[in-house]
Amino acid sequence: SYEVALKKRRAYVHPSVELYYDKPLMIVEGKKQYLFDEKGRRYLDAIAGISVINCGHCHPKIVKATTDQLNTLQHTTTLYLNNMYTNYAEKLLKTLPKKLDTVYFVNSGSEATTLAMNMCRTYTNNWDMISLRGGYHGMGASMGLTANSHYKQPLPQGFGIKHVRSPNPYRGPYLEDDPNMVDKYVNEIHDLIQCGTCGEVAGFIAEPIQGVAGGIPLPKGYLKKAFEVVRKAGGICIADEVQDGFGRTGTMWGFQKDEDGLEPDIITMAKGIGNGFPLGAVVTTKEIANSFTKRFHFNTFGGNPVAMAVGNAVLDVIEEENLIENARVLGKYLKGKLTKLMDKHDVIGNVRGKGLMIGVELVKDRKTKEPGCQITLDILENMKELGVLTLIAGVYSNVLRIKPPLCITKEDADFIVDVFDEAIQ
Ligand code: PMP
Repeated sequence: SYEVALKKRRAYVHPSVELYYDKPLMIVEGKKQYLFDEKGRRYLDAIAGISVINCGHCHPKIVKATTDQLNTLQHTTTLYLNNMYTNYAEKLLKTLPKKLDTVYFVNSGSEATTLAMNMCRTYTNNWDMISLRGGYHGMGASMGLTANSHYKQPLPQGFGIKHVRSPNPYRGPYLEDDPNMVDKYVNEIHDLIQCGTCGEVAGFIAEPIQGVAGGIPLPKGYLKKAFEVVRKAGGICIADEVQDGFGRTGTMWGFQKDEDGLEPDIITMAKGIGNGFPLGAVVTTKEIANSFTKRFHFNTFGGNPVAMAVGNAVLDVIEEENLIENARVLGKYLKGKLTKLMDKHDVIGNVRGKGLMIGVELVKDRKTKEPGCQITLDILENMKELGVLTLIAGVYSNVLRIKPPLCITKEDADFIVDVFDEAIQ
């Protein structure tokens, strides 16, 4: 029962594994875009396991691929050949620009980031990595790149990792209406390289649309210019697609958002790649991959046959069900309706995002933009009571993240907006 589960959770589970909501929620079942609690109450899942369940919960095709593979071969080792592994590698790489032709499978986003960082350092023979303040790239060895103070408070910054100001067209200091906004933010990378790294850079990492920072799309043209500056200083460039990838943002990859031919040197993936099954990947060029073979790197579970079968089915579902287009169209619709609510509610400071990766920033005062942290918490709780699950994000914890499965319908989008409207009232 609920009470027993709560008691056991408090007794046995590490307190750092947080529980959400005043009255914690118990979830017993998931189907498509819905979750069900122990009393059978249905919730619209507008967070999708934190940008993971892109294809919907318990998708029959993915469930079948998983169970079929479990019945055939669960695990051996990547030291042997396996068709599932190589066929999926080929299929995944087909979704990317041609030069990104080599993949290393891991189990999570943090592992992907750590490996990508090590590849940058090995390939360039430089040490310094640059990431954006407010960005999130993982825990463990990748934690230094996570420049969001919530997640690293008592721990020291990773050695050889520098943070640069993240573009924020809403909060500034350089704002959307400044025609030189992008150049000003990019200049800060330039200055950091000159003053903080002796001009030698191993790599730069960014989420094209920042997730944990609060659904902030990097301004158009920023990444292209940032990559130029970093490459000029000898570094290579990583797009962290852990949250953005697999159709979430209305394109297959977040870095494709500006349609300007941007090509990262390394891409990290996790979350949506396995629709809930632990899987991650680092994709790069042959040249960068080959340089890394002078180090020993091994991963016991990465690339296990079940994960490969799941990944394979996820790509099929995304294509067969036109999920990328749905994310694009419904994302635009949802963002439009949420933006319209600004006429009615002064607490909505900013609505932003791409596809079904939307952030709604709540403020006490629209002019001063003072973060409305308590309002955000209250709305989160109210929305749960009204049947919609979301999550809080942003460096001030005043952003509601709306990231439902990509299979939602127009009616679901309307429901999210109606519930948000009512929750504010
Ligand atoms: N990168 C990004 C952009 C993320 O959002 C996350 C997780 N929130 C990670 C990396 C780390 O992924 P994981 O939790 O699977 O280690």
